[in-house]
Amino acid sequence: MATKYIFVTGGVASSLGKGIIAASLARLLKARGYSVANQKLDPYINIDPGTLNPYEHGECYVTEDGAETDLDLGHYERFTGVATSHANNVTTGRIYQNVIEKERRGDFLGKTVQVIPHITNEIKERITALGNTGNYEFVITEIGGTVGDIESYPFIEAVRQLKWTLGRNSIVIHLTYIPYIAAAGELKTKPTQHSVKALQQQGVQPDIIVCRTEKPLTRSVRDKIGLFCNIEGDCVIEDGDVSSIYEVPIKMHDERLDIQVLKKLDVPIKKDIDLANWEAFLFKLKNPEKEVSVGLVGKYVQLQDAYKSITEAFIHAGAELRCKVNVSYINSENITKENVDEQLKGLTGILVAPGFGTRGIEGKILAVNYARVNRVPFLGICLGMQCAVVEFARNVLGYDDAHSVEIAPATSHPVIDMMEEQKNISNMGGTMRLGAYPCKLVEGSKSFEIYGKEFISERHRHRYEFNNKYINEYKEAGMVPAGINPDSGLVEIVEIPSHPFFVGSQFHPEYKSTALHPHPLFVAFVKAAMEYKR
Ligand code: GLN
Repeated sequence: MATKYIFVTGGVASSLGKGIIAASLARLLKARGYSVANQKLDPYINIDPGTLNPYEHGECYVTEDGAETDLDLGHYERFTGVATSHANNVTTGRIYQNVIEKERRGDFLGKTVQVIPHITNEIKERITALGNTGNYEFVITEIGGTVGDIESYPFIEAVRQLKWTLGRNSIVIHLTYIPYIAAAGELKTKPTQHSVKALQQQGVQPDIIVCRTEKPLTRSVRDKIGLFCNIEGDCVIEDGDVSSIYEVPIKMHDERLDIQVLKKLDVPIKKDIDLANWEAFLFKLKNPEKEVSVGLVGKYVQLQDAYKSITEAFIHAGAELRCKVNVSYINSENITKENVDEQLKGLTGILVAPGFGTRGIEGKILAVNYARVNRVPFLGICLGMQCAVVEFARNVLGYDDAHSVEIAPATSHPVIDMMEEQKNISNMGGTMRLGAYPCKLVEGSKSFEIYGKEFISERHRHRYEFNNKYINEYKEAGMVPAGINPDSGLVEIVEIPSHPFFVGSQFHPEYKSTALHPHPLFVAFVKAAMEYKR
């Protein structure tokens, strides 16, 4: 079968959940036995979101091959289990960078380089590149932003051209919002009509409209949208409120989104769809038998999207254990020596989050100290692991001014140092130690027991690392390396064996947790939190 291309656009408002719809559709197609890739095109000019503050754009997700990407790629992986890569997230910045490099090389000699055709051709190449690998029967491409935005014009134009050349091998799904006007007691379709008109003005007729709505869509509302937007009534899909994003695939299946997509793409509809494992996951998620409260200590807590993958990893692990994980987001800037007990009391697990820079760092170190001394299950991720190493140096090894050189370049005890390979790097974008690296677990360690194997691979995003000059001092005092990179000797995991659960990982386990494959470290951490008795 020729690769089928599905485009997902959004209208009326942002944040309606295009990523979740795209991921849910991918889940449904996978459940029908098809191979699917999800892709996101982002209209902003940054080459990637790696240099963006998480307050601006939420978490930066990291792929196996070390791409720093939009957080929607995390949703794709969590829903489908299909690994994404550099090819799955493309920004306007990346498109222009490539076109300009080609121009300098002389690829367009004699020609004026223009948005159409050069930029749109580059966009089309990035979309079809995934299909051309031959690995996917369906490519679902989500266009970031809202139709009508100036930035997204070239992307919509590329979609128009592809739709024309691909014919029945491509469709457009448009996600809109249907507001409910309480005073009139009515759902209003006008904003949807306008957003579809905006799309049509750019030459694109959607095939399916998915409507975010707080109230059920009546038949007459569906017919009205159909009539004004040139859509068959059956292709107006209701996307109502649900208690968990993981219910959306089931809702979309109930609404026959997958069937309509296959019909429109001339794909014969096999009768069976296997959602059994997804339903089993949902059942466990919705029927917890226990509850725990864990604290997520970080500095980007005002925007929960900043820690999206961690939040989701807790949901996956909680479902696995039939335990509702209540996560309190605690701003490390507000933690002081005086109030740390008050701030963290009642939590039976403490996670210190990844991050960068000085702000809030002392609060994180205090949180580590609290967890270590009170024997509360602790998981430190990346900067959180580094804080655990610093705390141990200060309060166990007795090096009062120990620090990471990221925060205190002149410290006399740089227990976290810059990685050798990073020392000559001056550009900030895309230059960290990124993506998957192998790690050998130490036999007899907690991590070895948790993973149940010797060799693992996890994803990284950092410039600093445990300073191996101190390794013997740490070992003797009771903090041990439990995972080492076999090639570089970098310490990837530290543990305190005398503590009920104290694990710090230089890598980010959260990026690899999926709904159907919860991450073992998160499962073990939640389990420890469930077992914790003060
Ligand atoms: N800032 C630290 C480093 O660069 C930690 C990074 C992180 O937590 N992702 O090493």
